[in-house]
Amino acid sequence: MNVTERARVRRIPKRGAYDSETIYAILDAGFLAHVGFCLDGQPFVIPTLYGRSEEKLYLHGSAASRMLRQLETGVPACVSVTLVDGLVLARSAFHHSMNYRSVVAFGTARKIAEPEMKKEALRVISEHVIAGRWNEVRGPYEKELKATSVLEFAIEEASAKIRTGPPVDEEEDYALGVWAGVLPVELEAKSPVPDSRIVDGLEVPQYVLRFRNR
Ligand SMILES: Cc1cc2nc3c(=O)[nH]c(=O)nc-3n(C[C@H](O)[C@H](O)[C@H](O)COP(=O)(O)OP(=O)(O)OC[C@H]3O[C@@H](n4cnc5c(N)ncnc54)[C@H](O)[C@@H]3O)c2cc1C
Repeated sequence: MNVTERARVRRIPKRGAYDSETIYAILDAGFLAHVGFCLDGQPFVIPTLYGRSEEKLYLHGSAASRMLRQLETGVPACVSVTLVDGLVLARSAFHHSMNYRSVVAFGTARKIAEPEMKKEALRVISEHVIAGRWNEVRGPYEKELKATSVLEFAIEEASAKIRTGPPVDEEEDYALGVWAGVLPVELEAKSPVPDSRIVDGLEVPQYVLRFRNR
């Protein structure tokens, strides 16, 4: 992927990566993004779902969303996705850290107006979050499509940053009687909770169980 100075990792550059494979793998493992943009000189960073197809991210929401209305004007935007893999507990307060995989992507968005393309982008978002759901649910009515704004964010350039491994302490601190190591963490899906008005006899779909056990 192309990288200019804007996207080059300067702080601990060895943790930076710019190849599409690494960046897409992180984007595909997550589904929550934080979208940054400026409005009248005020930066906003708004959490939102996304889907990915090649170098495009799809964002959606209410047609009244300020974030989407601002982004569709083509203002420069920055999308960041973070996966936390562990708390890195060092012997000194200073050397505590996190294990993580994150992506910072720069680009601009455009509104998708054509209904079939809009539906396809919504399918991409839905399948990105929980694969298999789109084929089961009722598709959007025309009025629902109208009430939904869908944007295509074209990634112009992006960086990934990845930290793995144990804490790195000062040599003299390894002798301290302080427990140190990594506390691995991950997002975990619990047992599905059926809605109280579900039609009798329906089992939890396989794709829901697959998501839970992924
Ligand atoms: C879960 C998590 C927790 C973190 N906690 C802290 C913390 O508490 N304190 C702290 O200082 N830092 C923390 N970081 C690291 C932080 O994201 C920055 O990398 C770091 O602060 C350096 O920022 P900078 O603006 O000086 O980076 P620079 O290296 O100057 O940034 C230049 C460019 O590098 C890229 N870049 C920078 N950081 C990232 C990133 N994380 N992922 C992808 N691309 C990146 C961007 O394109 C950016 O424009 C954390 C990261 C994660 C993922």
